[in-house]
Amino acid sequence: MSTDTRPSAPELKVYNTLTRTREPFRPISPDNVRMYACGPTVYSFAHIGNARPIIVFDVLFRVLRQLFGPGRVTYVRNITDVDDKINKAAFERGITIRTLTGETAAQFHADIRELGVLMPDGVNAEGNGIRFIEPRATDHIDEMKQLIERLVAAGYAYVAEEHVLFHVPAMSDYGALSKRPLDEMEAGARVDVAPFKKSPLDFVLWKPSGPQDPAWPSPAGIAAPGRPGWHIECSAMSWKHLGETFDIHAGGIDLVFPHHENEIAQSRCCFGTPVMANYWLHNGFLQVEGQKMSKSLGNFKVIHDELEHWPGETLRLNMLRTHYRRPIDWTVKGLEESDKTLDRWYAAVADHCGGSDAAAAEFSGDVWQALLDDLNTPRAVAALHALENSGAYRELAANLRALGFLHESPEARLARRRPQRTVDEAAVNALIAERRKAREAKNWAESDRLRDELNALGVAVKDNKDGTTTWSVL
Ligand code: AMP
Ligand code: ZN
Repeated sequence: MSTDTRPSAPELKVYNTLTRTREPFRPISPDNVRMYACGPTVYSFAHIGNARPIIVFDVLFRVLRQLFGPGRVTYVRNITDVDDKINKAAFERGITIRTLTGETAAQFHADIRELGVLMPDGVNAEGNGIRFIEPRATDHIDEMKQLIERLVAAGYAYVAEEHVLFHVPAMSDYGALSKRPLDEMEAGARVDVAPFKKSPLDFVLWKPSGPQDPAWPSPAGIAAPGRPGWHIECSAMSWKHLGETFDIHAGGIDLVFPHHENEIAQSRCCFGTPVMANYWLHNGFLQVEGQKMSKSLGNFKVIHDELEHWPGETLRLNMLRTHYRRPIDWTVKGLEESDKTLDRWYAAVADHCGGSDAAAAEFSGDVWQALLDDLNTPRAVAALHALENSGAYRELAANLRALGFLHESPEARLARRRPQRTVDEAAVNALIAERRKAREAKNWAESDRLRDELNALGVAVKDNKDGTTTWSVL
């Protein structure tokens, strides 16, 4: 009897939202592994929360490319270039949505290129031919209309007051992804329900355009011109570029319901398939200095501004130090640590490997094992530290390159001083004075809160023994 001593083939495990379990990843066809991620809605600068799926699913793409072969993975990440916010912004500026979204998509590419992500085919030379497609919704109106007509013909959708609606009760297992009970969804949907809906859960596939909206000839015999609902575009684009059923569908956790649930309903009912995608991966949400990021709280961070303060690879490492499914707290302290770590890695590679180019880009050892374990990037980062500590610099460089780092020459990174953060001195002095008052009144809670506020502005506060307070830019 002979024993096979070959190491078993590496296997990727992923957490699948559809089954709520970690499962071995088995593609439908290992010759063409197919993944789709919901991309950004481009109406202004993309924020740092949008950068999270961009970065974590770039890591997934890289892992799949090493696992199955670079020519055997197809990645589709769409651009949503028609929606109410886009229509409003374009109308206010008196330009077409195509002009507006052309500008914002170019800005989006300029921003994310800095984050060390592989770029879609055709966006730059590096990305050409890597089977990374970036379709735009408005280039797929015909496909959307075909899906809509098929859904109407099959009795899953109906026309009412120039809208086409998907009739949710027509699908027997609607809600399988989000696992929300139907009555709960119904209660949630009952607010402001349009009178022409047969069920409050029914959602829009197509709607009429107002005088200020972009408009296309409507499907399903509707005379008035109209525009697509939100969800149909992803069913159309994934169908066109990946087929009726594919391997992985990814996006932020906020998209599970209703967006992904409705994508599933549209695609499955149209094609009569038991699944749309086999594995559903969702990234957790990003918050800033412990608070929800929002324009009203004044802590809204766009990628473009973060890049003024930090090199893109620092943002990338900072994102990957938290597991993609957990919430991430985006802090100045975390960015400082990530920045220092990368400086050290760049220096180690420069000193010991004669530059990063000497190393191939390949995952190996504990870094590879960590990534195969549901993309455990914090463990992969710990493994990178271990490579550094044990003096395995060539392996460190190879893994860093595989993970999307070392795009700069070590000399360039180390020679470039991080641009100094700029702070509004008058505002900082006012906060320091306010904090002094709080301390005099022994209001420590308020004093701490003000310190946090200052930290969030990138300012370190020091209370000196002589009773004075000094501050410095982090
Ligand atoms: P949107 O442009 O809002 O459609 O979002 C594009 C992608 O970014 C989607 O996958 C969202 O789930 C994701 N996303 C939006 N905000 C955040 C956030 N604060 N943290 C993590 N992911 C986010
Ligand atoms: Zn989508």
